[in-house]
Amino acid sequence: MRQWRQAQAAQDPELAAIGRDTYSALDSCLGCNACGSACPAHVSVPALKSQFLDAYHAGHRRPLRDHAAVAVEAMAPMLASIRPLARRLMPLASGVAARALGFIDLPEISGRGLRQLGHPVVRHSRIGTIATAENTVLVLEDAFTATFDTGAVQAVCDGLAALGYHPLIVTLPPGSKAAHAKGMRRRFARLAGRQIAALNELEKIGRPMIGVDPAFVLMTRSEFREVTPSVPKVMLVQEFLRQRLEAGDPWPQAAPGTSAPRLMVHCTEASAAPQALRQWQEVFAALGLAVRPTQTGCCGMAGLFGHEQRQQTVSRTLFDASWAPALKGEAAVLATGFSCRCQVERLSETTATHPMAAIAAGLKAA
Ligand code: SF4
Repeated sequence: MRQWRQAQAAQDPELAAIGRDTYSALDSCLGCNACGSACPAHVSVPALKSQFLDAYHAGHRRPLRDHAAVAVEAMAPMLASIRPLARRLMPLASGVAARALGFIDLPEISGRGLRQLGHPVVRHSRIGTIATAENTVLVLEDAFTATFDTGAVQAVCDGLAALGYHPLIVTLPPGSKAAHAKGMRRRFARLAGRQIAALNELEKIGRPMIGVDPAFVLMTRSEFREVTPSVPKVMLVQEFLRQRLEAGDPWPQAAPGTSAPRLMVHCTEASAAPQALRQWQEVFAALGLAVRPTQTGCCGMAGLFGHEQRQQTVSRTLFDASWAPALKGEAAVLATGFSCRCQVERLSETTATHPMAAIAAGLKAA
């Protein structure tokens, strides 16, 4: 990156070749952002990559797959509004995506929408029009779980309700993750700006905000701060629960489970919120549930990275290095990340669900 910057500044005749080399080197970065938090140097390669790609593609045509990745995230609300039709068209769309864009093993669109989960849903812009109870928790959707994994939203809400809280699902403006990853900086700033404005409005009602997917929550603490230094606090699920446990909220006891499932956290979460596994374990223990916190590295999916045909060797090698041994002999595990659950589903015989599904089930059985 430094060499490329220097070549740019000096109008070096080798700039094009240096640019190609830099592009090639950054192409295998998954964007997990472990470098930005776990490495003592605290250099976020995804942030540098985003800036590089933006500048690089000012002079080089973007691959169609970049535009498609950004479009999928932007179209999530539209897909949700035509869910039954979108589900029927998905096999056809997946075939086109594989042939024309090189995306494989795309997840299925969830059968049930957010409004069919049995919990109230409100658009961010209408939050001021409804009365919320003292123990209301705002559950923020993100494009990927709201489209492809509403089961995780259901698990989080069911678990919160069983613990005595009132989950209120809040839909946000379209996401900006793909625009950041693909280095479309102006678009990222515009989309992230809208999401930050929505968070500012939500913050005014004074209820805790949690995100279903760790990748979204941690984006509010990292990528969003490239747009503005002041972003409202969005908590990871276990951060909220650990906080309420410490505050002494009266929680019911769960029926003891017959097994202690392994629990894995998203790699970005493991590096940016290193207490995540311990917090989950404390929450499970307080409810009388056993769990086996398991340290893993990146599962190799990292958003769309693992769905790109050309990245299969890296994606599968990473999975085999860390997750595959931990899944051996396990019929079911708990995983906090949507990407991780997708990767487990496509590369193993194990099923992976959100940890709150186990909490909801344990409390329901009590
Ligand atoms: S793969 Fe992860 S740790 Fe490595 S450079 Fe990319 S974001 Fe950083």
